[in-house]
Amino acid sequence: MNLLLMGPPGAGKGTQSKRLEGVFGLVQLSTGDMLRAAVKSGSELGQKAQAIMERGDLVPDDLIIDMISARIEEPDCANGFILDGFPRTVPQAEALAVMLAEKGGKLDHVIELAVDDEAMVQRITGRYTCAGCGQGYHDEFEKPAKEGVCDKCGGTEFTRRADDTEDTVRNRLNAYHEQTAPILAYYKEQGVLKDVDGMADIDAVTDQLKGVIGGA
Ligand code: AMP
Repeated sequence: MNLLLMGPPGAGKGTQSKRLEGVFGLVQLSTGDMLRAAVKSGSELGQKAQAIMERGDLVPDDLIIDMISARIEEPDCANGFILDGFPRTVPQAEALAVMLAEKGGKLDHVIELAVDDEAMVQRITGRYTCAGCGQGYHDEFEKPAKEGVCDKCGGTEFTRRADDTEDTVRNRLNAYHEQTAPILAYYKEQGVLKDVDGMADIDAVTDQLKGVIGGA
């Protein structure tokens, strides 16, 4: 089974993908995570992507399409995957359709996490992660039980994404509405688009997703 979670930055695609991975035995494919790893490693792709990501603009389609088409050929994807952050443009969605058709696969569910833009600015600018185990926290909504100490691993180092500043978040939201939202119409026409309320609390969103996916 292959899933695609859609929604603007901060909608919860990453958080929910990680939860669904275990439930359905799928692998999360986050193009944002892959690009951040490329930036960290200093690879050619990372060098091309870094400044674009810091501005909150989209990395060129050809780079993204090459990256994801190589990734879905890897053995851990054989059982199916959850796409998080890809496709983000109509050409990417079209390229994905070709890739899946070549493998004899398809998207089983495209689910939009419906959210409110202003709430996304607040969600994103407050979020941070444990540098040791990757557990996510938020300045207001999800603080560790003991300030400065990770609940999960006891780590005391935390990181924030370089593109989680207010100006960049607003640019990322614009990019979503201008370049990514048109894909929703593309999937609606194909009759595969469903939506869930992404403003509900995290567990309630997971339950809604499980209902949509499991109930098909
Ligand atoms: P994300 O972690 O999904 O919020 O992505 C972080 C940044 O990586 C985005 O703001 C873009 O600059 C870049 N990026 C991630 N996925 C894509 C994609 N599918 N197409 C173009 N740029 C992307």
